[in-house]
Amino acid sequence: MSSSGGYLAMAQTAVSIGADVFQFFTRNPRGGAAKPIDKADVDSFLEYAERNGIGPILAHAPYTLNAAGEEPRVREFAESTMMDDLKRLEFTPGAMYNFHPGSHVGQGVEKGIELISGMLVRIFDAFGRIPSTTILLETMAGKGSEVGRDFEELREIIDRTESRIKGVRLGVCLDTCHVWDGGYDIVNDLGGVLDEFDNVVGIARLKAIHANDSMNVRGSHKDRHEKIGKGKIGIDAFAHIVNEPRLRELPFYLETPCDLQGYKEEIALLKSLAQGE
Ligand code: FE
Ligand code: FE
Ligand code: ZN
Repeated sequence: MSSSGGYLAMAQTAVSIGADVFQFFTRNPRGGAAKPIDKADVDSFLEYAERNGIGPILAHAPYTLNAAGEEPRVREFAESTMMDDLKRLEFTPGAMYNFHPGSHVGQGVEKGIELISGMLVRIFDAFGRIPSTTILLETMAGKGSEVGRDFEELREIIDRTESRIKGVRLGVCLDTCHVWDGGYDIVNDLGGVLDEFDNVVGIARLKAIHANDSMNVRGSHKDRHEKIGKGKIGIDAFAHIVNEPRLRELPFYLETPCDLQGYKEEIALLKSLAQGE
């Protein structure tokens, strides 16, 4: 959802399409400066969200944020942007912040994992207190040199961060398109994939779902989102996903190629599937 009109406008738009959660970019998805926080807008949003049962909100870091970059200036941008985002999110306590772990750009996955957890540790260290925000690592499709292409890599980032800093809130956002493109068979064996997630990461870490169909076959490592039910994951799989006991209480966020009316229809569709079983 576009954050250009502020928090209250996003919440009102969410309600108008039947949503009770929403995701937004903290700034232009390609980077750049964020709009200053408007305290009056935040206050009216918090009141509106409370009254309309909205939440939790999910802030998405810009795509250009790469904690595993090779050039120092790329990593510095990642670190200062995430720091700034987390400070801003303290105005809306208890929010979630999702980021793509990064791309190691040929340095190797081991180096990438070390750079990502190193950045998290420095940010948490410098923050001064434990952020109220839960930071989510997104499961990635494994396009190019993306880190986070399997559950083990996410687990390793979490372990290395938590071994050096205590008490921070670190979780995972599972993107259905990305795990499918990454090779996990959520169509024929959703239960098995979640068992594996539980064994490797721990199901309690799973805090959010990005609900997207995929244009490509399983294991393609492409990351091209499709409308719900129109792609290779398909409507039957989404019926299982929304009714799966380990997922159904989680917030779902759509990132499909839709306009507002399209999102409204997809929300209605997913809700109807949830009631169907
Ligand atoms: Fe994402
Ligand atoms: Fe996503
Ligand atoms: Zn994606």
